[in-house]
Amino acid sequence: MKRVSQSLVVLLIAVLFVGCTSEQNQYKMGYIKGKVFNSNGNRSIGSAKVQIDVNGDVFLTTTDHEGNFLLQAPVGTHDLVIYTGKGNIFRTVISVNIEEGKTTDIPPSATKLNQVANLAYIPGSFDKIETIIIDSLGYSATQLSIADLDNLSYLQTFDAIFLNCGHYSPLDSAKYANLAAYAYSGGSLYASDWAVAYLTGDGYYRPGNNVGTVRSHTAADNPDKSCNDELGGFISPNDLCTEKIGSVGLVSGVSIVDPNIQNLLNSNQLDIDYDLGGWEVIQTINNWQILLQDNTHGYGPLAARYLYYNPANYIQNGNWVTICHIPPGNPSNQHTITVSINALQAHLNHGDFIGPCQQDGNILFTTFHNHHQGNLSRDVYSILEYFILSL
Ligand SMILES: [Zn+2]
Repeated sequence: MKRVSQSLVVLLIAVLFVGCTSEQNQYKMGYIKGKVFNSNGNRSIGSAKVQIDVNGDVFLTTTDHEGNFLLQAPVGTHDLVIYTGKGNIFRTVISVNIEEGKTTDIPPSATKLNQVANLAYIPGSFDKIETIIIDSLGYSATQLSIADLDNLSYLQTFDAIFLNCGHYSPLDSAKYANLAAYAYSGGSLYASDWAVAYLTGDGYYRPGNNVGTVRSHTAADNPDKSCNDELGGFISPNDLCTEKIGSVGLVSGVSIVDPNIQNLLNSNQLDIDYDLGGWEVIQTINNWQILLQDNTHGYGPLAARYLYYNPANYIQNGNWVTICHIPPGNPSNQHTITVSINALQAHLNHGDFIGPCQQDGNILFTTFHNHHQGNLSRDVYSILEYFILSL
């Protein structure tokens, strides 16, 4: 009980922080309270945004690590929007009625996070992110083959594509070009460990006669090119280069840099068990947002996000748009939010702009696995769920 009351206090502070006084003073206020769940209703969703927009005045909070929220908002009937990431893949809109000075409870059946866009994945040998997307979270994802990377218009029917560690079909310049075009047009990519090859290239890609040759995953057949002669890929080695030199074992005390993940785990550290040797250790990283960082074992960044999209692609599904909301009278308290296209003009009128307040990457890379040959801890599992939902 003590723990619950503490998180309610944190939520209250968050609400007061986000809803600036000038936005609150004009209204009679009440509260709504609830808990956000996945599609199956068996997993709570932490670090989800919960928001009411009244003619451009935004009342916003974030769910705590157990998925709970308590939002103070104006009296009346409003659309409550629950979403994660940029809101283009996972979003739920429900009508709520708020009464003055009262707290209205929303039933859990109404606060399940809906999937509103298509996901896809390419299978790997060492990872199965699809088991977390489909079996654990209860969402859907379409299986793609490496050959599907030749068809850009097909790729663009998916809002995110998950690339698992350990594919053994060749990539080539056309496939890399399509991955680049897909990401630049706003599609999200997730890659785990050796799947960094989709982003930066590796020994599979050789110019000349060897293109198209399928190789095994042995070291002799898949030489780990140095960062000076990496081949293929669409992200420059100056921005990301990795080497397959990680050791099997527990990396303890990893620093959680990302505040949403800190909120999710209610901690600023976690342990990650690297179950297979030869994992991709980051050697060079520039222009990435570091999410998890090892400071004690010499490995450095372990998960990061990279911005590759064109900001002009922010209008989503024709009906929702991600903006930087700059509260009138409190401009330093700006927030990246997703709003209905119907509300956009009210926001533009008080000086908001389309796109995020800060750069927010659409390519996610983790050096660790998502499928447990060894031990996938509860913390790592939670982070992987968060990564899926944050795209
Ligand atoms: Zn605004």
